[in-house]
Amino acid sequence: MTADVTKEKFTFQAEISRLLHLLSKSLYQNREITIRELVSNASDAIDRRRHASLTDSGISADDLRITMTPDKEARILTIRDSGIGMTHEDLVRNLGTIAHSGSLEYLQQLGESSDESTDVSLIGQFGVGFYSSFMLAERVELRTRSVHDDSGWVWESLGDGSFTIEAVEEEIEQGTEIRLHLKEGMDEFTEPARLKYILRKYSTFVPHPVYLGDEHVNDQPPIWVEPKNSLSDEDYSGFFEYLTHPGQSAKWHLHLSADSPFQFYSILYCPETNLERMGFGRSEHGLHLCAKRILVQNDNRDLLPDYLRFLSGIVDSADLPLNVSREALQDNTVFAKMRRVITKKVLDHLGSLADDDSAKYAEFYREFGSVLREGIGEDFENRERLGNLLRFQSTDTTAEDGLVSLAGYCARASEHQKQIYFVTATDAATALRDPNLEIFRERNLEVLLLTDPADEYLLTTLGSFDGRDVTSVDSAELELPKAEAVDSENNQDGDEKNEDNKETRTGFNQVIKLFKDALGDSVEEIRRSERLTESACCLVNAQGSMSTTMQKVLQSNTPDFELSKMILEVNPDAPLVARLCEIVTNDDNAEFIRNCGRQLHANAMILSGLAPDGNQLAERTQDFMLNLASGRSSIVGV
Ligand code: ADP
Repeated sequence: MTADVTKEKFTFQAEISRLLHLLSKSLYQNREITIRELVSNASDAIDRRRHASLTDSGISADDLRITMTPDKEARILTIRDSGIGMTHEDLVRNLGTIAHSGSLEYLQQLGESSDESTDVSLIGQFGVGFYSSFMLAERVELRTRSVHDDSGWVWESLGDGSFTIEAVEEEIEQGTEIRLHLKEGMDEFTEPARLKYILRKYSTFVPHPVYLGDEHVNDQPPIWVEPKNSLSDEDYSGFFEYLTHPGQSAKWHLHLSADSPFQFYSILYCPETNLERMGFGRSEHGLHLCAKRILVQNDNRDLLPDYLRFLSGIVDSADLPLNVSREALQDNTVFAKMRRVITKKVLDHLGSLADDDSAKYAEFYREFGSVLREGIGEDFENRERLGNLLRFQSTDTTAEDGLVSLAGYCARASEHQKQIYFVTATDAATALRDPNLEIFRERNLEVLLLTDPADEYLLTTLGSFDGRDVTSVDSAELELPKAEAVDSENNQDGDEKNEDNKETRTGFNQVIKLFKDALGDSVEEIRRSERLTESACCLVNAQGSMSTTMQKVLQSNTPDFELSKMILEVNPDAPLVARLCEIVTNDDNAEFIRNCGRQLHANAMILSGLAPDGNQLAERTQDFMLNLASGRSSIVGV
């Protein structure tokens, strides 16, 4: 080696050192993943070179390929690509530090586990695939020359805490060459048959030629242009792994092809898990976009609406210009139409999935429903389609695999029911305790249980379904089907009974007036309740307001949000209210009745999850108790 004048030494970011340590001691890893990661990096580098060549005529894009060469004697495995290469700055940044915060978190988690069998197969997913080289090699030597640089560089590391970078004196080709100086016991990685097997397994879908020595190992056409019936499940799952990460499986895929009005092929995949739900932040990957099989972009986010961002896949069209900027592409009319067609196809596919296999659809919905439903607010054109795809928990626990659709709900409801009822709470058990559900239970009316405030927002945005307005159970606009309509036809005197009930109980209006005196501005209105059967009163939200739960969520997020004034509904048939109606004739009882009004309001607040004034409440209940105690005699037996 030459004198160390030009050789610079760097230390790895602490997390990388930890990862390297872990990789070197974990004995039971699937070592093939190293090959897969390095080929995948090489393929990305070629994509980037090809892309750069579209806008810079100084960059050639001929004969781009990946070549793997084993050297048995020297125990060296070399992987070379004619990709974009790396400058000195790239090397320091890309192969010494970790940019993505998600990857850092993953590494921190890995670092905490000391188990030798820790699964590192997800390594590529977290943007640290390169480091798996150290599972095979005791020394990694990387020679590279960027298409933007005249000189080349050697990066080298023993996989301990540091690496070196040195300029290469002789002229080297553009691209990157990685030499793995294999560890003891890793001789299988110089066996051509073994390497060919691994390459066939992982690189079938790499869109660039992969060679093992002189042999072209991936010379089959890309699967998206093949007819569906010629493809096996393995073909599809293999391609998904290529697009995402090995070891990943898809919940379902959709293979599309069209010739008119424009030509395109597409394969879209829905992953098994929703990483967004697991706290990985918003999915920012896009679709691979090809024009006549050549990759134009590998993260196009404009071909699908945001609410389908969990899909991975490829779209290849002969009708798209190859050499255009992102912005120009978005304005392209074919592109815009393609987006509409693809979106519609995906939603139709989900619709058929829901019809054909509701359990499978429910499983999909539990995972991705939170993203999909955003479409209600975003995609006016497909609102109806999306409305059909929504699923909710419901008081009818036996219906539709535990998650019900609006269509199913409407089919179960009687024709006299003009609204779709929902209750919002933090969880289903809390929702079921809501006193507003009393009448629904009694009348056997189904109520949707919304456990996420976003659901309420979306349902109110949707407004109605199948001609029925969606309505919160605590809304003033609640309209219950007429009792006689629910009862069977032969209940002849139903009408009459109902009219009887409507007649105002003597004294009720005076009681309401006293309640109004007592509560003044603190409520929007006080009125007779049609919804209560047992309780004396409840609070409901005035026309157009959100449910109380929703308002509370907003309040906890925005401290200056004010809860809207509510309507106090009073049930004249509740024993307490009935008694107040009798004693109201005596003016001496006025203050007592006002106090009852205040107390009933406080009780209703508590039942709605709101907090009344604690001091006043305590004082008032003590007065009531004192009153009762005063009326009791101290004489035994009286
Ligand atoms: P990832 O590829 O997921 O970002 P890696 O640890 O495998 O994570 O690689 C880190 C970075 O190093 C890459 O993002 C890329 O910029 C660069 N890199 C790795 N291999 C190559 C290569 N063969 N050619 C050019 N750049 C590469």
